[in-house]
Order: sequence, then structure tokens, then C-alpha cells
Amino acid sequence: MSSRRRQNVTVKTDIIKAADFIRNSKHTTVFTGAGISVESGIPPFRGENGLWNRYDSSCVELGYFRQRPDEAWKIIKEIFYDFFGKAKPNAAHIAVARLEAMGLVKGVVTQNIDNLHQEAGSKTVYEFHGTAQTLSCTRCGLNIPASKKIVDHIPPRCTKCSGVLKPDFTFFGEGIPEPARTLSFREADLADVFLVIGTTGQVMPACHIPHVAKNNFCKIIEVNLEPSSYTTMITDIFLQGKATEIMNQLMEELT
Ligand code: NAD
Ligand code: ZN
Repeated sequence: MSSRRRQNVTVKTDIIKAADFIRNSKHTTVFTGAGISVESGIPPFRGENGLWNRYDSSCVELGYFRQRPDEAWKIIKEIFYDFFGKAKPNAAHIAVARLEAMGLVKGVVTQNIDNLHQEAGSKTVYEFHGTAQTLSCTRCGLNIPASKKIVDHIPPRCTKCSGVLKPDFTFFGEGIPEPARTLSFREADLADVFLVIGTTGQVMPACHIPHVAKNNFCKIIEVNLEPSSYTTMITDIFLQGKATEIMNQLMEELT
């Protein structure tokens, strides 16, 4: 038997085991990172094809943004509105939403800001790093949807006080938004199965969430193209492969 064939047999067994964990769990939470959106055409930030190899990451540093909103917004618009805006949910986002509709998943904790879980139909989504879908005024706090009309004018300005608007996702130098922070960590207390998809587990403090879950005797199922910092430390079942392919296989077992 070739090593490729052997690997597929192992994965199939692991898929069945993972499906059993989910079927028999009282509270499964999904935890996602940039990897789940790669097959929607959004690359991760870091690594060989990462966005920060193409763009200057200082556009999302709070200090730079405050000093040079024009410069920062030029890049922010290109990445998070023109580029992210074209992406559509893939089979992995859709599988997660279907699992919730079937009652097999209670919610999603995501580090992503691309709105693709919601577009796929997920209802309970905790956006740990906020969202690009709304903007807040840096002067008066007014909160408005990030419509194309508003974002097309650089820098976008508040309709009430003319202050510069900032996207509601977490910049470098900013804290994690509430209530997403508290509710995400609460999932780590409530869950008995964590399904971790497409994250290196290196971004603090989000990366702690699966560790807190594991400390609470939660089973960890991990989907990733390659081993992450979780794999040897806390993962019970590692499903190696593309998020869409693995989630499709999991759905075949669960439906
Ligand atoms: P990361 O960039 O550090 O790592 C991505 C992970 O996904 C890697 O472990 C990689 O092996 C895996 N991966 C890549 N393609 C995959 C695929 N097709 N199927 C399964 N796994 C795949 O991502 P991170 O850990 O989430 O941290 C980066 C930070 O930047 C996070 O806060 C993240 O939310 C944010 N970010 C968000 C977006 C988005 O909103 N789509 C995009 C880029 C970065
Ligand atoms: Zn204002």
C-alpha cells in the first residue's frame, strides 16, 4: 500500500472518530482562523503568500492610523473592502453553518473579520477580532455600516461630526472587543468538543481559547493543511487537509 493510500485510510478512520465526538457531544464549538477562508481566495496575513508580504501592515497599527488616516485608509480599502468584499463563503463555512442548523454546533468563535461565516448562514458567531462590516467614529463614537458609498471616500468621515471613521476590527495596539472576548472564553468553559479549523494558534490572546477548553477536559478536533502549535500539545484528532475537503468528508458522516 502506498503512503498516500495509507494516509487516506487513516484520515477516513479519524473522520469517523471525529464525527462520533461531534454526534455524542452536548456542546460543540467551532474555532476558526484565516485558513478556513483561504479557499475563498483570502490568503493569511503571514507566510510565503501572506498579505503582509504584499502590503505594509502599519495600515492597521493604531498609532499610524491616527497620524496618517489617508495613507492607512488607502491600503485598508484595497485589502479589507475591495479584495475581501469579493470573497464568497466556501464549503467549509457552509458545513459549519449546516452543523449549527442541525443542532450539532452551538456557535463559532472566529478570529476572522471577513463575515464569511455569517454569509454562509451561521447564526451564533463570536468575532474575537471584531468586524470590517461596521465603522466607528474616532471622535464621537457613531457606529455605521461600512457601505461602499462611505468607504469609497478616503478617509471616510462621520456624517455627524466629520471625525475619521475606523473599521471595527482589532488593530495592532488595540484590545479585544467586548462582549466577543468574554463570550468566546465562555465557549471554552461550556464546550465538550472544540473543532479548530485553519489557525496556527499563534495570535494572542485568541490562541489561548482552545487551551482553556482543553483544561476543561474538552476534546480537540483540528483541521489544518499542516500541524500547528496545537497539534502535538492538545489536539485529540488531527484531520490533515484542506478545510473544504475535510469538512465535506465530515458532513458525509454526519448527514
Ligand atoms: P494564520 O495566518 O496564522 O494561519 C493560517 C492557518 O491556516 C495555517 O495554520 C495554515 O496551515 C492553515 N491553512 C491554510 N490554508 C488552509 C486550508 N485551505 N485549509 C485548512 N487550513 C489551512 O492565521 P491565524 O492563526 O488565523 O492568524 C492570523 C490573524 O490574522 C488572525 O487574527 C486572523 O483572523 C487574521 N486574518 C484574518 C483573515 C480573514 O478575515 N479571512 C485573513 C488573514 C488574516
Ligand atoms: Zn463623529
